[in-house]
Amino acid sequence: MRTGEQVATSEPLITIKSAAKVYGTNLGLAPLSLAIHAGERVALVGPSGSGKTTLLRLLAGAMVPDEGPHTVSINGKSPAGLKPGNELASLVGIVSQRFDLVPHLPVLHNVLAGRLGHWSLARSILSLVWPMERRAAQQALARVGIADKINERPGHLSGGEQQRVAIARMMMQSPLVILADEPVASLDPARAEEVMELLVGLVSGNSDGGDSQRALVASLHTASLIRRHFTRVIGLRESRVQFDLPASELDDAVLDELYDLGDDAVAMEPLAGLAARDG
Ligand code: ADP
Ligand code: MG
Repeated sequence: MRTGEQVATSEPLITIKSAAKVYGTNLGLAPLSLAIHAGERVALVGPSGSGKTTLLRLLAGAMVPDEGPHTVSINGKSPAGLKPGNELASLVGIVSQRFDLVPHLPVLHNVLAGRLGHWSLARSILSLVWPMERRAAQQALARVGIADKINERPGHLSGGEQQRVAIARMMMQSPLVILADEPVASLDPARAEEVMELLVGLVSGNSDGGDSQRALVASLHTASLIRRHFTRVIGLRESRVQFDLPASELDDAVLDELYDLGDDAVAMEPLAGLAARDG
């Protein structure tokens, strides 16, 4: 199999060794092995039910792989083996499809929760939000374009605005590995481009021009966005890896085959409709 994995002499940032997940009688993910290096931006593609969310949740430590936590390792640690808290939060973070915001607390506190990695902790400091942290949260919200929403409740925001809050929270969290589950589903092309730029900005090279120490893994369905923003693309189908390619080699024919789209599919963005439907 051709691979999009970077040729690198350094240790991978993420190592998956035969990690698998079965839900009752449903196969979530067949045993999968993968190495991802710092600096990589990996797109996961595949039809609904192909295992994208399962893989992301295993990486996030939100679920334990069937063969044990040790089958997934990030920077030498097993996310599923860590308790929720600062250590896990600085290792890996996920922008989930549901955003996981606390609807009745102000946007400010939702964003600050990224810094703390733990909600009980965030609640306990509600009354003493340091000015410095508040400034950092304001800056993060300004970067995602919703500085004016800092005192709103997420429950009062649109879906797109809630997603920006989740990305601002991720800016505060600043983990080594950033995961995003269908971050651009249901966004129009201009918004999708903006959100991809924000996510890539979270992992791109640091200010002194050196290589990034971070990695991004995100599920999405749009070939043009993948070619522009990612370095590598992994195709999943029926819980198994079908291909693993440099993103620059992703053409529409490869995707059409993965998604079972025939020649009569719309030429320009054959998957935009799929993305919008995919839960
Ligand atoms: P994707 O994100 O690509 O749509 P998922 O990882 O959500 O795929 O699902 C992979 C497979 O696991 C599907 O067959 C799905 O039905 C099954 N699955 C996912 N979550 C659960 C669950 N909580 N209980 C039972 N089956 C599940
Ligand atoms: Mg999914």
